[in-house]
Amino acid sequence: ALPGFPRAVTILGATGSIGDSAFKVMRKHPDLFTVTALAGGRNGRKLAELCAEFRPAYACLLDDRARKEFLDHLPPDYRPETLIGPEGYERLAGLEKADLVLSAIVGAAGFGPTLAAAKKGKMICLANKESLVLGGHIIRRACRESGSVILPVDSEHNALFQGLAGHSREKELKRLILTASGGPFRGRDRRFLETVTRDQALDHPNWDMGAKISIDSATLMNKGLELIEACHLYGLPPERVDVVVHAQSIIHSLVEYVDGSQLAHLGLPDMQVPIAHCMCYPNRVAVDVPQLNLAEVGSLTFEQPDLTAFPCLRLAGEAYAAGPSHPIVLNAVNEVAVAAFLADTIRFLDIPAMIEDALGRHTAVDVSTPEAVLALDAQTHREAQAAL
Ligand code: NAD
Ligand code: MG
Repeated sequence: ALPGFPRAVTILGATGSIGDSAFKVMRKHPDLFTVTALAGGRNGRKLAELCAEFRPAYACLLDDRARKEFLDHLPPDYRPETLIGPEGYERLAGLEKADLVLSAIVGAAGFGPTLAAAKKGKMICLANKESLVLGGHIIRRACRESGSVILPVDSEHNALFQGLAGHSREKELKRLILTASGGPFRGRDRRFLETVTRDQALDHPNWDMGAKISIDSATLMNKGLELIEACHLYGLPPERVDVVVHAQSIIHSLVEYVDGSQLAHLGLPDMQVPIAHCMCYPNRVAVDVPQLNLAEVGSLTFEQPDLTAFPCLRLAGEAYAAGPSHPIVLNAVNEVAVAAFLADTIRFLDIPAMIEDALGRHTAVDVSTPEAVLALDAQTHREAQAAL
């Protein structure tokens, strides 16, 4: 067995796409993990199936209806302590017994639980990029105080983390280069984007992901959120984080050093790879993914992102530079707009338009406490919803 293993794991957002990939890794390495707690959202039945398999002592769901569905589907010989709502997620995130928390809730709802894990000194495997966009300044402070570490699950940031290993960042690092697949509408112009449908936008060429991040990939907001995530994780200003479109999603990002070296991380696009890297860090374990064969891939291509057709990436950089309250507004309006687009209430190009409009009207406010972050997030959600 590896030293320090098995690790006791809590998974928040266990019923989602990241959860699916994490369970594949855990099923392949049952000796490396025990499961302390699993949390889902509204999908009580799926969480019940996962809990029946992994037998955590704690579970959490979003509301009473989901909890009832969950309890109805549990095997008769097993009853975990079952909590509900934001307080429940936060409690699970901080449980004494867990070593590692996989933060994989989607959206701003991940902020409170991620912060709770950071305050309790957990090893945080972070998929929920929105929590850093909302309150990276607060989560970083909590990590410094508790000794908590963040291991980035997001494939680009995981690639950067690997490319940065062992180097004194300040002096030797020149810039970070995030790769972007370009999403399903790469190469398209605004005229084309005016009429695209929900199903077209959900159809990502390389990655199989949850609905919200798939739409974010189509608008390039995903890369915008990742730009902010990278600035927080690696302490760099947005001018030192560049984005290059790389349609094949084989290179997951690059680190450039002052001597001109660029270190790239390559792999087939499968989230099991960064998840296994984080959950087993600093060890490497086998993962069931096909072998990357570059001769079969043939060619890797690169191009500049088109910020006219896809303004969300530019808006994210501007929001981060404007200060800590602007990214909260950017993220909240994006969440409302993406949900409305998924519900066929607005059109694709209304997403960046709504965000640009809200950012234009926002004046910076103090968001140095978690309460202030959550209050601005909630207020912006209400205003964006009312404006639909
Ligand atoms: P998903 O929609 O497939 O799953 C989301 C999970 O969060 C589910 O378990 C759902 O029940 C739960 N959830 C939803 N709303 C909730 C709420 N209000 N409170 C508590 N739980 C709630 O999403 P996903 O694709 O797995 O993405 C999860 C996170 O990981 C996102 O932040 C996303 O940006 C990030 N991420 C995902 C991928 C990917 O390949 N899917 C890659 C990189 C980063
Ligand atoms: Mg990513």
